[in-house]
Amino acid sequence: MKAVVIGSGIGGLLTASFLAKNGHEVTVLEKAPYVGGRFTNLDYKGFGLSTGAFHMLPHGEDGPLAHLLKLLDANVRIVNSDPKGMIFYEGKTFHYRDGWKYLSFTEKAKATKLLLEVKRGKLPVDDPEMSGREWIREKIGDNEFADLFIKSFLGWADSVLNVPALELAKEIKAALKWGGPGLIKGGCKALTGELARIVTENGGKILTRKKAVEVDVDSKKVFTADGEEFSYDVLISNIGIKETVELIGRDSFDRDYLKRVDSLRPSEGIKYNVALKGNQRIGNTVVFTLDTERINGYNEPSSLSPELAKEGYTLIMLHHALQSRNVKAEQKKGIEDIYRIFPNLDEEGEILLIQTYLDGNPVNRVASGQVVEGFPVEDVYVVGDAYKPPGGIEVEGIALGVMKTLERLGLGSFLRWYL
Ligand SMILES: Cc1cc2nc3c(=O)[nH]c(=O)nc-3n(C[C@H](O)[C@H](O)[C@H](O)COP(=O)(O)OP(=O)(O)OC[C@H]3O[C@@H](n4cnc5c(N)ncnc54)[C@H](O)[C@@H]3O)c2cc1C
Repeated sequence: MKAVVIGSGIGGLLTASFLAKNGHEVTVLEKAPYVGGRFTNLDYKGFGLSTGAFHMLPHGEDGPLAHLLKLLDANVRIVNSDPKGMIFYEGKTFHYRDGWKYLSFTEKAKATKLLLEVKRGKLPVDDPEMSGREWIREKIGDNEFADLFIKSFLGWADSVLNVPALELAKEIKAALKWGGPGLIKGGCKALTGELARIVTENGGKILTRKKAVEVDVDSKKVFTADGEEFSYDVLISNIGIKETVELIGRDSFDRDYLKRVDSLRPSEGIKYNVALKGNQRIGNTVVFTLDTERINGYNEPSSLSPELAKEGYTLIMLHHALQSRNVKAEQKKGIEDIYRIFPNLDEEGEILLIQTYLDGNPVNRVASGQVVEGFPVEDVYVVGDAYKPPGGIEVEGIALGVMKTLERLGLGSFLRWYL
């Protein structure tokens, strides 16, 4: 089978790796001069920043992405965070478990019951239209700490400040099932670089600076900006649902489908890369920041991979969901928060680079909680962060979507992974 993959992001490379390993002829077309999309390293002033991600997998060594990497025999080292998370609240940073003290006896009992139900697979969501934060309030009570924690978790993990109740329930189920996050040794590039190696070592081709500009689904051909054409039996699109529809031509789709696709919303956010002098600060974990106006959380990728920081420094990555289109004002608030978290920043280090993700380069092409199943054109499949099945956070969601695509292609069965 001849497969053409448009886009060399993590979704495209994962699918391409399985296709190539199964003996199919694979060609990956990538418009950028590099592979990995929003999941690769970006060398900046001696630091290993990234084109997107925080060098972290939401469920570390035990999640769906790690499972796919094992099936591929990929040489990638993921180390689970310990503790799984910390909390910055009332000016102090503490282990997430100590957060229970901010709940009353009754709230604790209700929260424990809820977690047990979710863990057992019973998702007690009566009204699917309800928002996740409202659902938590309904279930455990109007507790400010709990609400701020959910808000910062969602801002960090999904780059939105709320999701539908069912999505939140499934994300909690995923965290209870597969555990917390983990850092990737060497950062994002160690993962996408390894996938690219698997593709090429199994006979696949990855062509950079090759922008797909049109797809003819009748003749099954992809046309690139430089006038080349590529025939396919199977087309994997890693560039988003809307973008794939545009390449094929909107006329090929019915109105209901176009309406659904046009209603999809991305998640947007701002990432701040900070260099601090001296030893590591928090280690391999995530700090959820509750005492802040904008920043939702931060991590320290150089705690596992010192090579990501310049000699004598440690690298901190902070993030927040975008709350308005006034990017300048958002960044100003984000910077004020950074000084709240690191009051001696001016003496101890600097903000290296601020990266804003919106419009055509968002955090997620389709924000968590919205899923369109099945692309309505024969032999065309969408992978990547426009297709994340419920409960799948970030690249774990991408991995779940790739699993479904592999099943449709007859390349495996992943039933036990669906939430
Ligand atoms: C600030 C930030 C922090 C994040 N942190 C994390 C994290 O810590 N952990 C995590 O799991 N996830 C994280 N994410 C999310 C994660 O980075 C993305 O979901 C993921 O990288 C998207 O992968 P993808 O394969 O869907 O798409 P992309 O990485 O966007 O890949 C698509 C590729 O297609 C190419 N392309 C586009 N159009 C064409 C065309 N016409 N022809 C040819 N090529 C084309 C693009 O150049 C690109 O390389 C973060 C994202 C951001 C922005």
